[in-house]
Amino acid sequence: MIRPQLPTPDRDSGLAHRMGRWRPSRTVLLSAWLNGALLSALPLFPKLWPWFLALCLADQAVLTLAVLWPRSSLLGPNLVRLSPSATGRGLVALTFDDGPDPQITPAILDLLDAYGAKASFFCIGNRAERHAGLVEEIARRGHSVENHSFRHSNLFACYSPGALRREIERAQSVIAARSGTPPRFFRAPMGFRNPFLDPVLARIPLRYVSWTRRGFDTACREPEIVLRRLTRNLAAGDILLLHDGSSACTVEGEPVSVRVLSALLPLLGAQGLRAVSLPMAMGNTPDA
Ligand SMILES: [Zn+2]
Repeated sequence: MIRPQLPTPDRDSGLAHRMGRWRPSRTVLLSAWLNGALLSALPLFPKLWPWFLALCLADQAVLTLAVLWPRSSLLGPNLVRLSPSATGRGLVALTFDDGPDPQITPAILDLLDAYGAKASFFCIGNRAERHAGLVEEIARRGHSVENHSFRHSNLFACYSPGALRREIERAQSVIAARSGTPPRFFRAPMGFRNPFLDPVLARIPLRYVSWTRRGFDTACREPEIVLRRLTRNLAAGDILLLHDGSSACTVEGEPVSVRVLSALLPLLGAQGLRAVSLPMAMGNTPDA
């Protein structure tokens, strides 16, 4: 396996202070403390078991809510907006999930080139393996290729720590070999992550990123609606999510994400916003 190179540390990347080190979130700490206290107290106060059970179920309910809430920071750091310095520079991060796709990715790359825009592509490892030339092309055109797991399993949020590590490291290795640069960011399939994910990411290291707004372009066949979701209150510092894999198609058979991007890019320019990749927004590349 290719050993990931450590990215250049910088204030915005959030990786510099956590390389190899993991600090549990308050929610995880509180949950661990509560469960330990309940286990210790149960033999001493066995008649109180219904109360203990209720507390245990309440704890599970909070953790489940955190798993199913993609923009939550309850389970660890979660980048949902760019930093104040990127916001001050009028930057917006464009991100595409679930590719690469031989039909959609080339069209998106051409559109980005036409408007001088850059983006981050959160690729699925086994698709990157199948379409290695596309991953090379994404990187050659100056975009970043990030990690979106190897198989994009619907059960990703149920994985054990070992399974999470294998899944993410395998994608990391495949993408680094094709793009020439190890991914620096990770996004979980469907945005669902469990309490074991953050220590795995800290060890690799990868930074977890979700989004400020998304268009639901995998489910919606109306480009106007997807565009409206992305541009409502659009502002510098936003992280926008579209898909170059699994995009829905319009009634004419065109991928919704391609149609939306062709309208979104001129709108960004008209508002004085500049579309960049996540490493550019973090100041990790000279282009930023
Ligand atoms: Zn996905």
